Parts: sequence; structure tokens; C-alpha cells
Amino acid sequence: MQDCTTPACRSARSIFLELQECYEEDNLYFQTIGSVLEAADKLAVPHRLKLILSQPKNEIMVHCPVQMDDGSWQLFKGYRVQHNNVLGPYKGGIRYHHEVKLDEVKTLSLLMTMKCALARLPFGGAKGALKVDPRTLSADELMRVTRRMTAALGTNIGPDYDIPAPDVGTDARVMAWMADTYINFAESSSKVTARGVVTGKPLRFGGSAGREKATGQGLVYVLETLLPGMGLQIDQLSFSLIGYGNVGSWTARLLQPLGATLRTVMDHTGAIHNPKGIDAETLAEYVTQTGGVAGYPHAEAIDRETFYATEVDLFIPAALEQMVDLPEARTMRCKVLVEAANAPTTPKAERHLLEKGVEVLPAILCNAGGVTVSYFEWKQNRQSETWDPDEVDARLRTIMSRSAERVLQTAERLDCNLRIASYAAAIEHINHVYEVRGVFP
Ligand code: NAD
Repeated sequence: MQDCTTPACRSARSIFLELQECYEEDNLYFQTIGSVLEAADKLAVPHRLKLILSQPKNEIMVHCPVQMDDGSWQLFKGYRVQHNNVLGPYKGGIRYHHEVKLDEVKTLSLLMTMKCALARLPFGGAKGALKVDPRTLSADELMRVTRRMTAALGTNIGPDYDIPAPDVGTDARVMAWMADTYINFAESSSKVTARGVVTGKPLRFGGSAGREKATGQGLVYVLETLLPGMGLQIDQLSFSLIGYGNVGSWTARLLQPLGATLRTVMDHTGAIHNPKGIDAETLAEYVTQTGGVAGYPHAEAIDRETFYATEVDLFIPAALEQMVDLPEARTMRCKVLVEAANAPTTPKAERHLLEKGVEVLPAILCNAGGVTVSYFEWKQNRQSETWDPDEVDARLRTIMSRSAERVLQTAERLDCNLRIASYAAAIEHINHVYEVRGVFP
């Protein structure tokens, strides 16, 4: 434990010593569980809870042979990690990305356990991934790969057991193929509710109003709850975004009508800047047509370093993990870092930002809008109901603002930062449920 200089690292090292597991200090899973265990150490929770949370319950790996359009064959690797289900069925997105690794999926599944617990949703945490670049496949190939992976997962998913949703590289169309495949395998007595096996489906096939924009909308509700207390007003704010996919583009399109100004955006194709503001709707149309922000005609191209160093009020990462590391944090000039993506900030970067007075709003709070409306979709599917958009928004607002208040109160009570507070508020709920249920046998 000599190399540990932080409480999070010490908490994680001590548990993994007991489990005889070894991780590098910059491993994403080690970093994330470290913060979770640091939060647990602030509470009088039993040691057994820390052991339970420190590893997922199940790690499933599948390999799917699929024939390509040109007649050749490829073997695709898929993961489904089910972290914890004490609160209810496992819940979490499915990611399609060519660089995905097991530790990343484990991390995201742990964050889902924490996220659902913080929002008091009746779900546990899971995450899935397929190692593929979806941009390189035709629509037919994407469908065959999706159907084959769904079949390979078999009874490891189900509306009462584990419910996937969209994430990076997947969308409503992919969810429709997953649901259709699952329904084809379902017993005739359960076909009606079988489509609840996934959420984020198209509206006409059991989807919910408001699911597509849900993560961005939830984030806006969190900002409306927390920013006034930080002396900030949305209508006077400038912001930058990493990622202009589902979460990034909806965040921009929902903040713009409230008077906030999008100044810079970076995605996998490049970075752009306009000091007078970038129109969120026009950029969304451009990205849909071209696949990225590079070449957008109403802004100038900038390099990566300039992107991070541009002064804005809100810096919003909405792409992949660990995109804000210490070198980037050193150059960043913002008042609040808003984690729309999962695990975008390394612990070193977070410490640096907190030291220089930047507020860090944690991902399990900021991006819980997606899973919350997924819960609404699942509920509507079970009851054969269709809620109207206003009802979805009103319910989402209630859950997001309550979660934000819960984090603030926990931070005050435990005298800790907002990330540790968000984990602590989640762990208290999980601990309470273990107390009343007991741990089997
Ligand atoms: P998406 O696939 O729609 O968009 C991903 C974006 O990331 C794209 O704009 C892409 O260009 C960008 N990107 C990829 N690699 C990059 C790189 N190297 N540099 C800069 N940008 C890069 O994905 P999404 O659904 O918007 O998810 C974004 C984040 O939000 C992820 O962390 C995801 O886990 C999280 N999240 C998504 C949801 C949801 O409902 N979709 C819910 C909660 C959390």
C-alpha cells in the first residue's frame, strides 16, 4: 500500500489485497471502485457490503460468428457484466465500440448500480458491449451482428432479469432488433411483456416519449437544481462539449432555448469553436449528415489543446471515459465540470480541478436521466400504457431534482465532495436493502 497517496487508492488496495486481486493504479475499474469504497468508509456499513460491491456478480463473455455482405466471416466478442441486483433486475446500456475492454464494462456496470441506487430506481446495475466499430458495418450486417449477440446472451437477459438499453454506438434501431430477436425466442405466454427486455426502443414499438432526449433533459434538470446555489444562472452561461452524439447534442439543444451559449465542441472527427456561439440545432443536422463536427461551416476548426483551454462556464464531457486527465485539467478554465459521460474524469484531474475551485458534478447524478426514462418505458411496457411527453418530463424532473438535493445534503452531512457524496447516498440505500433482505444464504 506504499504507493497509495489517496484514501480512494488505500480503500481499494486493502479490499483487493483481501481478494488477492491486483490492479494498476491508473486502471479505470480500480479508480472507480476506489472512490466508491472511499464513500463506503465514510459510512458505518458492514465490511461484507464493501466485499460484495468490489466485484460484479456475473461477467459473461460471448463470441458471435457472423457472415459479412461480401461472404467473409467475422467473429465478434461481446460482454455482459451484471454488477449487482439487490434493488431489482440488472439494468444498463449496450455499447458498440472497437476498443472496448472488460474492465471498462465492469466499471460501467458498477456505475449503473450506483446510479440506480442514487435515483432510488428499482434496478441493479449492468453493462454490455460488443467489440465492433458500427460505422464500418452495413445496416444488414449490424442487424445480423445484433441478432446473433442477443441470441448468444439468451436467458442472461430478460424483462424481469436484465434489461439492456442504448449507449455509445447503439440506438433505438439496435434496441428494436434486440427486442424482436428476444420475442422470437420467448414462450408464447410471455410474448406480450417480452419487448420490455430492452428500453430505448422506437416510440411505435414500445418506446417511451422523451427517451431519446432523456439523458440531456435529466442533466438540464440537475443544472436547474444546483447552479443557482453556486451563484450561476443558466441564461448567462457559456459551455463546451466533448461528444455530439445522443447525450452531447441533446444537452446542447435543451440548454440553448434556456439562453446558454455553446462555444466549442470536440468529437472523434475534430474540434470547432465560435466565440459568438454555435447553433445547436444546425450542428445536430450537420452531424447527422456527415457523421461528425469537423468541417462545420459556421465555426472555425481548432486543435485539441485549444479546445480544452477555451474559457467557458460549464465544461461538459459527453463522449468516452477518462477524456479529462491531469494534463487537460491543468489547462482547463471553467467554473463547473458537468459529467454527462460516464467516468470522464481521472482522480488526478478531479483533485486538480477541485483544488483550483472548479465544481465537479458527478456522472451518476448528471446522466441518470437516461435510465430513469428507461424505467418509465419498462413500467409502461408492463402495464401496456403510453404516457404523454409532459408526464414523462414532470416525473423525470422530480426524480432528478430529488437526487441532486440528496447529493447536496449528503455532502454537507459527511463533509465531502459531490462525487463521494453521490456514492455515499447510493451505498446507504443499498446497505439498507441488504439489511432488510439479508445476504443469501
Ligand atoms: P453516442 O455514440 O451517441 O456519441 C458518442 C460521442 O462521442 C460522439 O459524438 C463521438 O464522436 C464522440 N467520441 C467518440 N470518441 C471520441 C474521441 N476519441 N474524442 C472525442 N469525442 C469522441 O453516445 P452517447 O449515447 O451520447 O453516450 C455518450 C456518453 O454518455 C457515454 O459515456 C455513455 O456511457 C453516457 N451515457 C449515455 C446515455 C444514453 O442514454 N445514451 C445514458 C447515460 C450515460
